[in-house]
Amino acid sequence: MSLAVDNIGQLVTLDPADPERPVRVDAALVIDDGRIAWVGDARRAPAADSRLDARGRAVVPGFVDSHSHLVFAGDRADEWEARMTGVPYTAGGILRTVAATRAASDDELRARLARHVAEVRAQGTTTIEVKSGYGLTVADEQRAVRLAAEVTPETTFLGAHVVAPEYADDRDAYVELVCGEMLAACAPHSRWIDVFIDAGAFTVDEARRVLKAGRAAGLGLRVHAGQRAADGGVALAVELGAASVDHATHLTGDDVDALAAASTVATLLPLVEFSTRQPYPDARHLINAGVTIAIASDANPGSNYSSSMPLAIALAVREMGLTPLEALAAATVGGAAALQRGDVGHLGVGARGDLVVLQAPDFRWLGYRPGVPLVAHTVLGGEVLAS
Ligand SMILES: [Zn+2]
Repeated sequence: MSLAVDNIGQLVTLDPADPERPVRVDAALVIDDGRIAWVGDARRAPAADSRLDARGRAVVPGFVDSHSHLVFAGDRADEWEARMTGVPYTAGGILRTVAATRAASDDELRARLARHVAEVRAQGTTTIEVKSGYGLTVADEQRAVRLAAEVTPETTFLGAHVVAPEYADDRDAYVELVCGEMLAACAPHSRWIDVFIDAGAFTVDEARRVLKAGRAAGLGLRVHAGQRAADGGVALAVELGAASVDHATHLTGDDVDALAAASTVATLLPLVEFSTRQPYPDARHLINAGVTIAIASDANPGSNYSSSMPLAIALAVREMGLTPLEALAAATVGGAAALQRGDVGHLGVGARGDLVVLQAPDFRWLGYRPGVPLVAHTVLGGEVLAS
């Protein structure tokens, strides 16, 4: 089956094969068998089995959200309210979600995850990474990555989110469990392994053990670092060749130099700064230094419970010094780079047919109209999703 999307007023392709022309006007494209088969002038569009009339609106690549924590139960609205009155964020609240998640049935977690996936699709996200990390036992972590794998191939084992409460007095034994039995149970359902480096979570040395064990088990590496302080996690991520270091809010000059010289992507999470009322990372400085950046949601019940990539884009422009096109690129091709995917995040020929028809004539409206629903249609692998 083929689908022609025509009458596109403004088409943002971000095609790496055509870097001089990221945006086209009066365009059309054809998706055949799930992939972009043709992109060009609206008047020359070839015939297809079905047609989606963009009615002169803007079309952009589907958002690639390379960082989320959407397998959980419970909520922490009280913690958010306390933060807004000045109580600082700490990693300790994670254990409240761990207790609620362990107590939930498979069906309950599956239903909540499905609602979250529907929510992100309606906001234009077509690729999403989902982490475990609210189980912290072998069985509960395995359940989380197994459920995540039902909705996305981009699954991440995050047993090293915080130390499980049962191991509060013996963190070394917990790290050993994560690197051994827990990893063995989770690796078959995971593409990635991740670790939270933070004063309330894991040290750089503990993280090194976890990441090396994950690599030996065949998983790709991701790291949470630099959320609340420059903590040495960026250097570790670069040293081990991690695909991405996430947060990267607090960086030293050496961190920036190391990222600029490495393939590791700096994934910025501005919704976390928004929801914890913390200073934003200096994305302008990172881009000027030659660092590849991504923007992701970090949707989770604690430090940020928004899954909105359009809002993240608006914040990246408003608070982080990016141009609207740089912010959109970070949320699409940037996220794809953070997941080491060449087939998503852009609309070049051969890419997956994942795109968004905006309820807007211009992609800049994503930042110009913050908080307003701007997704007219989400197209996933050439299929127009119900909206
Ligand atoms: Zn996170």
